[in-house]
Amino acid sequence: WGRNMLLDVQNLETWYGPIAAMKGVNLTVAEGRIVAVLGANGAGKTTLLNTLAGVIDPFKGQALFLGQPVQGLDADEVARRGLVLVPEGRQIYPFLTVRDNLMMGAYARRDRDAVARDLEKVQAWFPRLKERDSQHAGLLSGGEQQMVAIGRAYLSAPKLLMLDEPSLGLSPRLVQVIFTIIRRIRDETGTAVLVVEQNAAVALKHGDDGYIMELGRIVAADTCAELSRKEDVREAYLGGR
Ligand code: ATP
Repeated sequence: WGRNMLLDVQNLETWYGPIAAMKGVNLTVAEGRIVAVLGANGAGKTTLLNTLAGVIDPFKGQALFLGQPVQGLDADEVARRGLVLVPEGRQIYPFLTVRDNLMMGAYARRDRDAVARDLEKVQAWFPRLKERDSQHAGLLSGGEQQMVAIGRAYLSAPKLLMLDEPSLGLSPRLVQVIFTIIRRIRDETGTAVLVVEQNAAVALKHGDDGYIMELGRIVAADTCAELSRKEDVREAYLGGR
């Protein structure tokens, strides 16, 4: 798309033993863009993010982040470079307070003033988390836990935020709230976003660029606006609407 590339993924393959879950994926994320990857359950979306985040090792291919290869690096190092994953199922610490969960994201940072400012931003985006600052995170609703997970990721100073199914298990209203805030984070801070979603309608509505993944391959790539207009996409992913 002719913009500055943040992430450039070329021919990435990931295998679970003899099974290829990603069969040569090509994908790019340009600076400041919200990129949505759509696909049915089992298409390989989680595998894609976990591979990029260094949670699992790619078998083959290349992923350049800010021009540097990230394949083979461990997850902490990838996150330190600014490629930060919000995993499926949130993975918050139920017996820590909301504040302590958020601050876990900043553990590797030394720029305390900037961390304090980032915490204020997170609390402005999610006023709910400020209200519940000293409560155990395990007592929060699913939507609030997703807010904690996104806030924690933001506190690790991402350049690209990767979100795995942020809509999972949330009410339709909360799904809209979460995506509206994802957009706000991008608009206010320029942070790029790579989001994988089964909820195609919401991802196409809020995303800029989109990819469709089927059985470990990218089968379509376009702007989200264009994808939403395509008949086959509407039939397969938007219930024909
Ligand atoms: P979901 O929305 O359920 O997370 P997905 O699109 O993210 O689906 P993946 O979870 O990446 O898909 O799974 C892709 C394929 O890899 C599936 O066929 C899945 O069964 C398989 N798979 C995933 N994890 C493993 C694993 N640890 N061992 C073996 N096969 C796996």
